[in-house]
Amino acid sequence: MAAVNPAKSEAALHGQQAPTLSDSTPAETTAPTVLDDLRVSSTDVLARIPKRQQCVKCKKSVMYFCYYCYGVVGCDRSEIPTVQLPVKLDVVKHVKEKDGKSTAVHAKILAPDDVEIHAYPDNVPDYDCSGRTLLLFPGEDARCLEDIEPGSFDRLVVIDGTWNQAKAMVRYSPVLGRLPKVAIRAQRTYFWRFQNLDDGHLATIEAIYHFYREYHQAYATTPYNGEYDDLLFYFKYFYDMIQKKYRESGKNFTQRYRGDYIRY
Ligand SMILES: [Zn+2]
Repeated sequence: MAAVNPAKSEAALHGQQAPTLSDSTPAETTAPTVLDDLRVSSTDVLARIPKRQQCVKCKKSVMYFCYYCYGVVGCDRSEIPTVQLPVKLDVVKHVKEKDGKSTAVHAKILAPDDVEIHAYPDNVPDYDCSGRTLLLFPGEDARCLEDIEPGSFDRLVVIDGTWNQAKAMVRYSPVLGRLPKVAIRAQRTYFWRFQNLDDGHLATIEAIYHFYREYHQAYATTPYNGEYDDLLFYFKYFYDMIQKKYRESGKNFTQRYRGDYIRY
C-alpha cells in the first residue's frame, strides 16, 4: 500500500477509507457509468439507516452490516437482496487485510448460502486440485471461461488482499498454488479507494461480479439480464454516496488510485 498523506484523507466512512478530495484531474463526477445501467435493487433502505448500530451477535458498533459476523445491521435482512450463485464462492482473505477495507464481505452478506470466507494462512481449506475448484487469478496459465467445459467445476476461490499479498499467497500456499486458474476479461474499476495501479485493478467484489456475469454469458442459454447485479448492491451505494460528496464539495473525482489491489 502506498503512503497516503493522512492530512489529505477524509475521515473513515463506515469503515471504508474514503478517497481524498484534494486531487484534481478531469472530472467524471456527473458522467453516467456502467453502474447506472445495472439492475441493482433499490438502496433506499440503506439511505434510511442514520448511524452505526450494535451488531446483535458481537455487540460491535457497525454501519449497514457486520464485518465479523456477516449479518445485516440497521434494517431487516428481508429488506436486502439475496443473490443465488451458480457455483459456490470461497473467499480466502489475507489475515492482514483489514476487515473494514474488504469488499469481499459484500458477497457473503448478499449471497449467504453460497459464499464462505476463510482466513489465510491458518484456515485455507484443503481444496481438491483436480479441476472442480478454480482460482480466480490472472496469469499466462489462466484460462477464460469460454475455454472451460461447462459443469466441469463447482467452486470458485477468490483471494482478498492487496496485489502483493495475493501474489505471495499463490506463490507460497501449497493449495492455492496448485489450483487451476481462471481469469476474467479486463474491466475498469469504479473502486473509490485509490491505487497506484491503473484502473484495470478491481475491488474484490467487482471481480466476483464480473466472474458471475461472464459465467452466465459463457454458459447460460438466455442473454444476461442482471442476474448477479445485486452483488454490487453495497458497492454501488457507497460509490454513489462518495460521488455525491464530491459533487457537494465542488471538487472533482480523481482518476488517481493509491494502493495495490489485484489486477484480475
Ligand atoms: Zn457482529
